Amino acid sequence: MESLVAQACHYIDQATGGIVPPIHPSTTYAQPGGQARPGGYSYSRADNPTYGQVEHLAAVLDGGEEALVFSSGLAAVNAVFETLNMGEHIVAPRVMYHGTQDWLRRIAVKRNISVTFFEAASLDMLEKAIASTQTALVWIETPINPTWEVIDIRAAAELAHNANAVLAVDCTVAPPVTTRALDHGADLVFHSATKYLNGHSDVIAGILVSKDRTERWDEIKLVRTLSGGVLGPFESWLLLRGMRTLFLRFERASQNAMGLARALENHPALEAVRYPGLESHPGHEIAKRQMLNGFGGMISLLVKGGAEEAKRVAGSTALFVPATSLGGVESLIEHRASVEGPHSRVPENLLRLSVGIENQDDLLGDITLALDRLL
Ligand SMILES: *Cc1c(COP(=O)(O)O)cnc(C)c1O
Repeated sequence: MESLVAQACHYIDQATGGIVPPIHPSTTYAQPGGQARPGGYSYSRADNPTYGQVEHLAAVLDGGEEALVFSSGLAAVNAVFETLNMGEHIVAPRVMYHGTQDWLRRIAVKRNISVTFFEAASLDMLEKAIASTQTALVWIETPINPTWEVIDIRAAAELAHNANAVLAVDCTVAPPVTTRALDHGADLVFHSATKYLNGHSDVIAGILVSKDRTERWDEIKLVRTLSGGVLGPFESWLLLRGMRTLFLRFERASQNAMGLARALENHPALEAVRYPGLESHPGHEIAKRQMLNGFGGMISLLVKGGAEEAKRVAGSTALFVPATSLGGVESLIEHRASVEGPHSRVPENLLRLSVGIENQDDLLGDITLALDRLL
């Protein structure tokens, strides 16, 4: 896979010999006699060679036929939801990334789309939800934010396909370094590229990868062009630059997180540590089957006490920065219920850590010191 990145990024500029692709800021393309040049570019709300570089790499990494880059993760999510017709049915987890769920609830009401939420740990509930009425789309996320419950992609794909529904998987937390959802039977993969793919907390972007060119995929493309949710060429170029080191960053973050999760599992100030790499995690066996190259950098800590105690920990770290988001080189800590607001289903005592690529001992020392203060 690392070689795939190197190959997909292999570039030599014909004019100069430069080994890094240029940025194409042009919004429009000369078409003498009304004829586009090879590549078919005409106007950058539809397409642009710099988006094309990112999309090529994303398609190669996830093993899909085509990819599309968007101006944010949620713009990409929206493009998928936009393809649903009035009266259609979607199935999604009860706890999931709150922004996607908020959007789903909103369009469901506005467009008369029905949504059934299921408990992530229960394939039975997923099957019942899919069978309850003709389902068009099953949207899952794995591991799930911020409980890191794991959904079996292969089993979900089978259930969706038996009902002629499409399976889309939000793999933001398990990028193609470790999980290639299309290989496990998914039809569409979504990444908030803001997170691991870019990895430097300096670009907001989204990516969709499709297993095949379907009618729905063509419609998603049309939605991007008509709604204008394209990423700028400079941001696309930065994203491409970030993606070149995805493997190294993810590997290091996974090693750090595994070390921290193990070391903190028996800390007396904690009720539990949620991390798919721990044998104690309910989804560990499935995670082992579908997270092939590390369990990632996301850990949740359930602090003894409540919101008060959790916030005190988040407020007293030195290296972990108190901030939302994830997948960057720097470690972050947040009191998740506060971030999600009053409708959140996240436990009040949950702290979400995004473990970065710093020195593991330094990170462990920092969080341990903050937890020890509660004792
Ligand atoms: C951040 C995130 C999103 C939304 O992506 P944006 O780039 O912020 O629009 C969706 N799903 C998950 C799991 C995320 O972490």
